[in-house]
Amino acid sequence: MPVEAEPGAHSRSGAGGDAASKTIPPGDERESLIGLTRAELAECLQAVGVPPDKVGMRSKQLWHWIYHRGAVEFDAMTTISGALRAALAERYTLARPETATEQRSTDGTRKWLLRFADGREVESVYIPEEDRGALCISSQVGCTLSCTFCHTGTQRMVRNLDAGEIVAQFLVARDSYGEWPSPRGQRMLSNIVMMGMGEPLYNYDNVAKALRIVMDPEGIALSRRRITLSTAGVVPMIERCGAELGVGLAISLHAVRDDLRDELVPINRKHPIAELLDACRRYPGASNARRITFEYVMLKGVNDSEADARALIRLIAGIPAKLNLIPFNPWPGAPYECSTPEAIERFAAIVNRAGYAAPVRAPRGRDILAACGQLKSASTPRPSRPRATSAGATAAAASAAAASATTA
Ligand code: SAH
Repeated sequence: MPVEAEPGAHSRSGAGGDAASKTIPPGDERESLIGLTRAELAECLQAVGVPPDKVGMRSKQLWHWIYHRGAVEFDAMTTISGALRAALAERYTLARPETATEQRSTDGTRKWLLRFADGREVESVYIPEEDRGALCISSQVGCTLSCTFCHTGTQRMVRNLDAGEIVAQFLVARDSYGEWPSPRGQRMLSNIVMMGMGEPLYNYDNVAKALRIVMDPEGIALSRRRITLSTAGVVPMIERCGAELGVGLAISLHAVRDDLRDELVPINRKHPIAELLDACRRYPGASNARRITFEYVMLKGVNDSEADARALIRLIAGIPAKLNLIPFNPWPGAPYECSTPEAIERFAAIVNRAGYAAPVRAPRGRDILAACGQLKSASTPRPSRPRATSAGATAAAASAAAASATTA
């Protein structure tokens, strides 16, 4: 399928700033204001000499310009005096990370490869639907899990993203669609799924800080109901995530027996299925209106039998749940094949009959390797040791089928 790659593409910008001024130039040592809490923003204002009695008002204005208007440079901030704008610009920046590539799938899916100041890269994917769309955001460069079916899993874990780098993925997508100021009504970028590269619950503090910023009602103002966080099963963090953030939860289940899940999703050896499902039963805020999504990748001859489907229903009994059956997305060298359409249909029919929604979405963005489990920034080194012993590896991937089904 044709892929329209646009190296270095920067399309429309938010308030102020042309393409050239939008990304951080190499060697720029100014601190980014993106990803700071309101309190931290206030400190920055104090640092450039704003008197204490004005700091509250000024940080409100700054917040509005950054997260409601999408300003990429201080000069666009017409409610702030020229002198203060200049002082801010001297020390701070609102520039986005560099867009190394922006690719567009024939089905409308867009994928950005973003490069941060240290040269590290992550991908984010936007999956449009008729009247809305989900942005799939990464939380780490690489991943420490080693899920055997996931392309990100073949990548060494490099580092956590900081809150600014997580928020910036949203800002870049917004810039690309010119969706500024933050629309109060219908939006293209209406949902977020933390389903990109990395395990978000292994980088909880930064993820939480970033999500609080995008949920802030005076900025991007995305409702927690439109955010879903996916985890491979970091059990000790699940309850906290629900209590503190109240976002939707998705679980990468993928197997119904511990022996198989130990292999596919190795974190299972630490937190086996029963423990994981207990945490789901206790998840704050889960209800029939806010169901937990169980993601299940369909692997031919591995986890796709009718007996597996029946065991799955028994396992999740009592949990307000929906299922997301993800056809396995192949990647070069992957040791699995996707289940046949017939096997997927049989599997779905069994869970449907048990009363669970189990949409099987057509994979999106496969032509640009933007589907679940296909994300992998090429610049990140491959593990130098064999995978079994490598510290690095897996998990995530953005997606497509997963994302759209989860946010439906
Ligand atoms: N680490 C988190 C976030 C990643 S979410 C987690 O594991 O939940 C990405 C989703 O895509 C997960 O459900 C993951 O298991 C799934 N996935 C990974 N590789 C895939 C592939 N090749 N085909 C289909 N789904 C895949």
